Amino acid sequence: MKIMKFGGTSVGNPARMRALIPLINDDEKKIVVLSAMSGTTNSLVEIADLLYADKSNEASLKNDQLMAKYHKVVDELYSTEKFRKSGHELIDSHFEYIRSFTLKAFTRLQEKAILAQGELLSTSLFHMLLQEMNIRAGLLPALSYMRIDKDGEPDSYYIEENLKRELRKCPKDNIIITQGFICRNAQGETDNLKRGGSDFTASIIGAALNASEIQIWTDINGFHNNDPRFVENTKVIRELSFDEAAELAYFGAKILHPSSVNPAREKNIPVRLKNTMDPEDAGTLITAECKFEDYKAVAAKDGISVLRIHSDRMLMAYGFLRKVFEIFEAHKTPIDMITTSEVSVSITIDNSQFINEIIKELSELGTVELEQNQSIICIVGDFRTERTGSAPEIFEALNTIPLKMISYGGSPYSLSLLIDTSNKIDALRQLSKHLFS
Ligand code: ASP
Ligand code: MG
Repeated sequence: MKIMKFGGTSVGNPARMRALIPLINDDEKKIVVLSAMSGTTNSLVEIADLLYADKSNEASLKNDQLMAKYHKVVDELYSTEKFRKSGHELIDSHFEYIRSFTLKAFTRLQEKAILAQGELLSTSLFHMLLQEMNIRAGLLPALSYMRIDKDGEPDSYYIEENLKRELRKCPKDNIIITQGFICRNAQGETDNLKRGGSDFTASIIGAALNASEIQIWTDINGFHNNDPRFVENTKVIRELSFDEAAELAYFGAKILHPSSVNPAREKNIPVRLKNTMDPEDAGTLITAECKFEDYKAVAAKDGISVLRIHSDRMLMAYGFLRKVFEIFEAHKTPIDMITTSEVSVSITIDNSQFINEIIKELSELGTVELEQNQSIICIVGDFRTERTGSAPEIFEALNTIPLKMISYGGSPYSLSLLIDTSNKIDALRQLSKHLFS
């Protein structure tokens, strides 16, 4: 059994949906996880935001626009009148459902119900396409097995039990289609695995079923050694370890959702990144094995804020950092990077939702300085502590760029730096020149 997840662009229009069929139509049993058609989840978020803002007319308008787009998809996707008719009925019922929320007071629960429509639509449309072509396939509702617990973590026991039970209902199907992203929460309500969460769905399913491989299909050939949006001549990295992939995914490489590495790593299931536009290409293979190389890749993560806390009370004191960390914990704000001196500590975060509250509480421990619009540059390579000689190339590459923080020694696989976002593109290009050419 393998898992094949196709992202939003891979199901982004009727032609792309049809192009998936030769990739999945063979004798091997597989679960096909689909995202919403590209742009849909963003539009649904906009509709929900308008409803929160009490702009129900604008929300209705947006809903109508999106619905019109889907009716066009149906016209192009199916070749028989019978399936077109069912397709239009399907679209009407989903958008009728969304429209029903424009009449009532709007809550988080309803927002999540709206966000779920994208994946429900893409999977139903695709399943109907296979039916029209007489290709046998099952449709497995994610809401019947995918669940998160009260901490928002996948409820592995529940998922495995229910997924296996559901699968027993379609023993003869080699192709089993299911929704990425959507799930139920501990209260049984419709919820989701956060933006980009379909990769996570694929990995959770792969782990629950002990799959032979988890494939994540997108529109590039795998992890690149630098950000192809800003740097020319980037190359595909053919092999990565789970740890290296997790660092790259977390620090900005958009191709893989960072949470999706964990379930695969726990069950030691290989993850392969593939390109639907170039299916022959081997892509990137992620396994437990790490083949160290001086430098493998560079990634950048924007939207970082740095907080510098300075306090003489830190000098030779113990327990100071605990007090600092507790403040972040109380505000459910994860810390990305941290550096300390004897009297000060610098901490970066990427979620600034509670930044004012955090600053207020930190100010009771010392003086606090905030700097925003920062980026973390993560360099993945051989940073084992017994090694010598890796730093000069990095610092030479960046010698005209102010380095705000440096984190080294936390992991044998990576070194991270903090810079102003305005210097990011320059930094990525310089690193590319010095490390990879
Ligand atoms: N459709 C969801 C999103 O756009 C989930 C995903 O595509 O992974 O975030
Ligand atoms: Mg994605």
